[in-house]
Amino acid sequence: MPLHIARREFLLRSLLAGAGVVTFPALRADDRKTDPDRWALFSDTHIAGDPATIARDVHLADHLRAAIAGVQALPTAPAGVFVNGDCALDRGLAGDYATFSELFCPLAGKLPLHLLLGNHDDREVFYTTLKENRPAAPVVASKHASIVETPRANWFLLDSLDVTKQTPGRLGDEQRAWLASALDQRQNQPALVMVHHNPVASDPTKKTGLLDTTELLEILLPRRHVKALFFGHTHTWRLSEQDGLHLVNLPAVAYPFRPDEVTGWVDCRLRDASMTLEVRAHDPQHAAHAKPAHLAWR
Ligand SMILES: [Zn+2]
Repeated sequence: MPLHIARREFLLRSLLAGAGVVTFPALRADDRKTDPDRWALFSDTHIAGDPATIARDVHLADHLRAAIAGVQALPTAPAGVFVNGDCALDRGLAGDYATFSELFCPLAGKLPLHLLLGNHDDREVFYTTLKENRPAAPVVASKHASIVETPRANWFLLDSLDVTKQTPGRLGDEQRAWLASALDQRQNQPALVMVHHNPVASDPTKKTGLLDTTELLEILLPRRHVKALFFGHTHTWRLSEQDGLHLVNLPAVAYPFRPDEVTGWVDCRLRDASMTLEVRAHDPQHAAHAKPAHLAWR
């Protein structure tokens, strides 16, 4: 469910926060044309309640502010922003989500924000803090899953949060059954699947990624209308393929695990039979910055 923060609530929160605690670009009506095929892909924002928090030498709030400013600076407005989990710093505290919400105020009411959960999130705290994200009728019990239907593709947003603060993730039987059925009901459009945890089919002994990767790929690979699987978790930007299915590892907005790894967000543009992905790095000197990758649909 999209998060829309009312302007009045934002102003109230800003007053409560006090001058100088958080700063935002001037609010103005977004007069850009919206591109229904453009999506801003964020992952692993790791926002702490205290907006001054620094982790692994990264000012977390500043990194998210920079990514949001990048979205604002695009010549056309994207149709929406996805945040692919680990929205919160470490264990999904209410204060983390309150600050996260405040940081997104420059986009409030201008474009939809779709949030996914990672192992550093807490689903119940997330729902009680960012109430508008709790679906009235969940499609999968105890999971935060949804579908975003768009003119050129349908996005399937999954929930791999298993236990908060435990590294591996799991979709579970019920969510996988729902996904298979939801994909079968929408075969007329390319399907793009997004989940926080990385697939680990190639190394099942490594218990850090998605534990039910094999079962997920058994759903995705034979359904030829599924064109790409997006994930985060590893804080690494990498493109690969399995049987023509694009595997897109999104960079972290927050910090890298290796010093040479890029951080930032990805500008995604859907086309008739392909998409273009372009990393918008925090460091414009990084080799991965602004190098469009064209990924054709299988
Ligand atoms: Zn993370």
